[in-house]
Parts: sequence; structure tokens; C-alpha cells
Amino acid sequence: MRSHAHSNRTAALLSVASNTLLTVAKLVLGLVTGSVAVLSEAAHSASDLAASAIAFFAVRTAARPADRDHPYGHEKAENLAAALEGILVLAAGCAVVFEALRRLIVGAPAVDHIGLAIAVMAGSAVVNLVVSARLRRVARLTGSPAIEGDAAHLTADIWTSAGAALGLVLVAITGWKPLDAVAALIVATYVVWMGVRLTWRAAQVLLDGGLPDHEMALIEEVLAGFSADGVSFHALRGRRAGSKRHVDLHMVVPPETTVRHGHTMSGQVKSAVRSALPNVEVLIHLEDH
Ligand SMILES: [Zn+2]
Ligand SMILES: [Zn+2]
Ligand SMILES: [Zn+2]
Repeated sequence: MRSHAHSNRTAALLSVASNTLLTVAKLVLGLVTGSVAVLSEAAHSASDLAASAIAFFAVRTAARPADRDHPYGHEKAENLAAALEGILVLAAGCAVVFEALRRLIVGAPAVDHIGLAIAVMAGSAVVNLVVSARLRRVARLTGSPAIEGDAAHLTADIWTSAGAALGLVLVAITGWKPLDAVAALIVATYVVWMGVRLTWRAAQVLLDGGLPDHEMALIEEVLAGFSADGVSFHALRGRRAGSKRHVDLHMVVPPETTVRHGHTMSGQVKSAVRSALPNVEVLIHLEDH
């Protein structure tokens, strides 16, 4: 548990560090050369920095134990962060669509420092590739939605940078200006879809959407193992909060069962569910026939 929280925090800090580096480098390059393209890249990296800072605060908040104000824990801070990441990706995708359409309709403004702009985008894509791969690995290990969201955001940015750089290269080769906007439109459509999916998935958890079918099946399998001698289960429910799962259910026992025995049995069910699924909190309501 503690080490997962630590991995999440380290991963979030890596993203904060790389985005700080990218923002400063692009800002300096943009100011020195006076390239508008590089300066707008710097503005984008600054918004990425804000997003990674949100992810950092979210994983820090999520790791706090339950308290008086939040008796169910703080895990959903992560899903809130993932939803914000999704909205940022969506907004970035829409901005690219808007800009590409404007170029197609009104015509492209003369792009200055094309070689430099391509180099900056390519460099930025490489950094984001390395960082997002690391974040995805950590998210898979810890199940952190905030880190997964930041990884998805950086991946969307790789596509945006790669699409923009490819467009500029194609324009430089063919001399046909609209290619730039066409490449951007194709990539932006994908980025918008990524943003929608990220926001949607985070919203499902915030709305207490159920656990996936395969996880419910796993729990039912565990319960079936206890269902033998006059014991049955019903009203099984599950939901997620950050990297945590909450499961509750009713357990029916024979009427002659003592409170002590019933409690011992429900304890065994809890441990069995816990060893079948990682990071799960189980609440069992006992009743008799
Ligand atoms: Zn971004
Ligand atoms: Zn609290
Ligand atoms: Zn019941």
C-alpha cells in the first residue's frame, strides 16, 4: 500500500519535472528566436505542467487515510484528476480541430522557423514518449487512475506533436500547404476521442459505476465456494474509488448460528474475496433464514 502511494508520487513528480523542463526550454527557444510556433508549444507545455501538478496533488490526497470529513477515504481525488485530464485532452484536441479548419478555410499564415519548430516538436514527443511509458507502467502496477490519466494525456500530446511535425515536413517536401491542416485534423479527431473516453471512464467511477463483469464473476466464484452448508449470498454490489474497490453483500446463515460463529464465517469470506481481488474493502451484512 505505502509503496504503491510512493510509486504514484514519484511518477507524478517525474511528469511535473519533464513538463517544467519542456516549458522552460520552449519558452527560452521561442523568446530567443521569436518563433510564434515554438512559443505556442511552450504555452501547451505550461498547461501540461498544470495537469501533472493536479495528478501529483491527487495521488497525494488519495493516499491519505479516511478521516472525519471523508469517512470513506480520499481515493476519488484520483478519478476527479483523471476527469480533469480528460477535459484538458478534449480541449486541446478541439483547439487543434478549430485551428486546422481555420487554416483550411482562411489559409495558413506563413510559418516561421520551420526547421526549429519541427525539431522542438520532435524533441518534445521523444520526452513525452519516455515519460508516458514510465507512467503507464506505474499505473498498471498501482491501479492509479490519476497516473493513468496523465499517461493518456502525454500520449495524446505525442500524437499531436508527431502529427504537427509530420504535417510541416510534408508541406516542406510537397509545397502543398493544406497538408499541414489535414494531418492535424486526422490526429485531432483521435485526440478528441481519447479525451472523451478518459472523461467518460472517470465519470463512471465518480458516479459509482459497478465493477467490471470479470471482477464480479471472480467474487461470485469465491462466494460459491462458501455456499455449501445452509449458507447463501445476495445483494452483491461493487464499485471503485481510485485504485480501491468497495464490495458489499448480504450473507444468509442458518438461524441457530451464533453471532460469534457468523462473524467468524463472514471474516473468512472477506479474506477470501481480498485474496481474489487486489485492494478491496468488503462489508458483509449477516442475516438468517
Ligand atoms: Zn497536453
Ligand atoms: Zn479528509
Ligand atoms: Zn438481505
